[in-house]
Amino acid sequence: MKKVLKIGFDLDGVILYNPVRIFRPLAKKFLKPIKASFLHQNKDSFYFPNSLFERWLWKILHKTSFRINTGYDDIKKLSKNKKIKMYLITGRYSFLGQDYHTWLKKISAKKTFIKCYYNKQNKQPNQFKEDMIKKLKLDIYVEDNWDIIEKLNHHTKAKIFWLTNILDRNIPYQLKFFSLLEVCRYLKKLV
Ligand SMILES: [Mg+2]
Repeated sequence: MKKVLKIGFDLDGVILYNPVRIFRPLAKKFLKPIKASFLHQNKDSFYFPNSLFERWLWKILHKTSFRINTGYDDIKKLSKNKKIKMYLITGRYSFLGQDYHTWLKKISAKKTFIKCYYNKQNKQPNQFKEDMIKKLKLDIYVEDNWDIIEKLNHHTKAKIFWLTNILDRNIPYQLKFFSLLEVCRYLKKLV
């Protein structure tokens, strides 16, 4: 293993516990075709809320990330290890900036992460993450959304850790974890 391990973490569903993320497979199945036809968006692209109403709804949905995930204390401790550099990279769009900054304070992000980034320019979330992984030359990125995992694996060399959920857990994947604690235990073994 090389000298310093650079690790990126997603926010919603990884650092923050988000029970709604288990609906991703359901939402994908039932909502995407509807979204594509009504909103004239490419069905393979991630949804971007354009109207004020949609943005309001989107903010409410992000309120479902309502607490810090179990295991974050261990992540904080691990961040003190000189062989590790941690970054926070979330695909959250620009209009969620205020909530994002509130969470950064709540999790004392400055003490844990070298730097934190959110998707200010409203790129497709997977594209934003891909760009950041390449820019920061990350070795590992921890993500909860299976759709994003698939895309990142195609376009980056980083090892993408998957924090899975009850509904998706049967999808075969080598770097699959069931909790942030488990991710942390694995990372400890690497340094
Ligand atoms: Mg997420």
